[in-house]
Amino acid sequence: MCVGMRVVVPVRNKFYTAIVERLHDEKPDFEVKPIASVVDEQPTVLQSQLQFWKWIADYYQCPIGDVYKAAVPSELKLESESLVSPVQDADVSSLTPNELRVYEAFGSSVSIDIKNLAKKSGVANALAVVRSLLSKGVVEITERIVEGYKPKKEIYVSLSPAMKTEDDVTKAFESLKSAKKQSELLSCFLTSTKAFSDDALTEIQRRELLPDASYSAPLKALVDKGYLISYPKVMSRLYTSDDETQAHHEFNDDQARAFDDIKELFKTKDTVLLHGVTASGKTEVYIHLIEDVVKSGRQVLVLLPEIVLTEQITTRLRRVFGDRLGVYHSKFPDAERVEIWNKQLSASPYQVILGARSSIFLPFQNLGLVIVDEEHEGSYKQVDPSPRYNARNSAIVLSIMHKCKTLLGSATPSLESFNNAKTGRFGLVSMNKRYSDVPLPAIEIVDMKDERHRKKNNGIFSSVLLAAIRKALAERTQVILFQNRRGYSPFLQCPDCGYIPKCNNCDVSLTVHKAFRALTCHYCGYTENLPAVCPKCGSSNISNMGFGTERIEDELSQIFPEAKIARMDLDTTRTRNAYVKIISSFEAGAVDILIGTQMVSKGLDFKNVSLVGVLNADNLLSYPDFRASEKAFQMLTQVSGRAGRAGKQGRVVLQTSTADSEVIRQVIHNDYQAMFSSQMRERQAFKYPPFFRLIYVEIRHRDQNVANAAADYMANAMRAVFEWRVLGPDNPPVPRIQNKYIRRIVLKIEATSSNAKAKALLRSVSEQMLSYDRFKTVQISLDVDPV
Ligand code: ADP
Ligand code: ZN
Ligand code: ZN
Repeated sequence: MCVGMRVVVPVRNKFYTAIVERLHDEKPDFEVKPIASVVDEQPTVLQSQLQFWKWIADYYQCPIGDVYKAAVPSELKLESESLVSPVQDADVSSLTPNELRVYEAFGSSVSIDIKNLAKKSGVANALAVVRSLLSKGVVEITERIVEGYKPKKEIYVSLSPAMKTEDDVTKAFESLKSAKKQSELLSCFLTSTKAFSDDALTEIQRRELLPDASYSAPLKALVDKGYLISYPKVMSRLYTSDDETQAHHEFNDDQARAFDDIKELFKTKDTVLLHGVTASGKTEVYIHLIEDVVKSGRQVLVLLPEIVLTEQITTRLRRVFGDRLGVYHSKFPDAERVEIWNKQLSASPYQVILGARSSIFLPFQNLGLVIVDEEHEGSYKQVDPSPRYNARNSAIVLSIMHKCKTLLGSATPSLESFNNAKTGRFGLVSMNKRYSDVPLPAIEIVDMKDERHRKKNNGIFSSVLLAAIRKALAERTQVILFQNRRGYSPFLQCPDCGYIPKCNNCDVSLTVHKAFRALTCHYCGYTENLPAVCPKCGSSNISNMGFGTERIEDELSQIFPEAKIARMDLDTTRTRNAYVKIISSFEAGAVDILIGTQMVSKGLDFKNVSLVGVLNADNLLSYPDFRASEKAFQMLTQVSGRAGRAGKQGRVVLQTSTADSEVIRQVIHNDYQAMFSSQMRERQAFKYPPFFRLIYVEIRHRDQNVANAAADYMANAMRAVFEWRVLGPDNPPVPRIQNKYIRRIVLKIEATSSNAKAKALLRSVSEQMLSYDRFKTVQISLDVDPV
């Protein structure tokens, strides 16, 4: 046995798969139990991973078990509660008697947990048996079915075993004389062999073909006649290809300089920030850096904030790195994550991993470089469930543990990173021009107060924006419209009595979804029908307020009936396929106007977009968050960056009622430095990051009184230690989630003081609180460096 191997351990009548953390012969101060079985012959988790997990657990103040849960795919960490299902049409001929008993214990159930399978089958070590059933492909881990993520099955075809002799073959062809397509398909199996000796036929029967879809009717006929057999086969989902990869593009001068500067800075700095305007060619710089590292035999991890971004960049990296590139995401099916995990442990791991935040948890045998693209993105931070880690910051630590370097890239860096670069902790490299030398888009402001005053708009579109759309369509270019909201309108309000429907569980307004005729809670998923009359006063005037992407689509299609319009938001992109479809039809020019939320602002590269319209910049600016201005600047700059990427300067029309605000001015002049300076002044004045570190302490309880009392107790105890650095308790933006009341206490600690010491003090305060009987059932969780 050695560190990193999996073992099955009993805990209160249940079995769990655990990881060996340390081998020692010290006497523990608790009762020890024997290990039920050792699963692995080789470690499943590397020492370096364990070390990294410990850092995450310590820094983000959570149990290391939470990190293990987030890091390891379900199949590798089977436990009594794991849900499994039988695979349809699986081949059970090779099962051992025990395996068969467990398999048969499913009966007609679709899925059962392992504990119950053990009970029903009477097989004691069901966990181990399920593991071998998994490896034989007879059962699978039950996952929430997400369309587009199902295991990939394809229909394969072979010659029927009934075709034993040359005679059989000849007869078959005779009977197909008038069925041209059928005999064509059948001959696919036989052409390569001249003589149909019996041996040759056996050989042919081993051959499998994947028929073209246009042959589905003749195929069915041949199967019915007993000449061919067909069967579904689960495909390896990992990309393989024999295609030759292509060389990278040659650099322009700016890229060559940036590349050299980055390499030079890596000699003295662990982390370098690449600040390059939108379409300056950062991705191309990444590709050259990755090539260098891969050539030296080491691995590269490329992090992206969200899966929505991966398609375009995957294509670009795939062109250069072919099957040396692996793509990883926590929402991939478990079986696919296991395949990648095991490949990274094998002798031929992927040299480049492109993934969302959870890919920092993969095994890396020889990491040489980490790239964090769009490093400013808040979604690098996992909010729920624990571990509430920030993948960008954790990646920097991972990289240092592997003695390698990190490159952060963005057109709009976070204040934290830019500050680190200014103070010399990070190296800084800038690219100020677009790759194609085209100027950045011209941004026009439309003052909606003014337009409303002159009655020049219908509440959504200004006359300026409509004219710009008309012009873009006439020139056969494309348009992106951005609205930072989803749903038909954010909420429903009765004009007669002011009533607003709220979620019973979460205390937030429900969102209207016209397409589903429903009201939904975006936090817990609670849904009810759209009411015809106000539940409070009975008025039938209950109507929509504000506007979301769906309403924009409706109105727009009335104004431009000939335009092809698509909408991209969380509702239209529940699946990966849906997302890819929208993007590729926009890329192919099949869509004229793309309406969307944040999603359309992300680093997508379209060639024919001449106009970007921002429908309402105000709701970005008025968000109750100390980062609102920074985020608004980033969002507006990023979405503007989608305009005019190839050859021609783009145009941005920005509608706002606060045209004179500082941030809007900074966006128009693309003045990141000004935004940085003014925001840093505010952060310092109000004691926010990067001058102070924030830790949120969240208290949860079903009983509001208990939650309040615990929060008050906790806040007072914290004040005794941290004095003025404690704020609250207060209600977080959503004060009740899934029937638990939440109170939040904010702790601000000087960035220069010891972080570890503060956390240790905080821990002892919370242990003290939980030691009281009345607070025993209180849940307390920390959010370190919240975003
Ligand atoms: P960024 O990542 O900074 O937004 P990209 O790398 O997407 O910029 O580059 C913008 C556009 O310029 C893309 O269409 C890309 O294909 C093109 N491009 C960038 N560098 C080169 C190069 N060296 N040769 C050819 N095309 C390039
Ligand atoms: Zn009413
Ligand atoms: Zn809810």
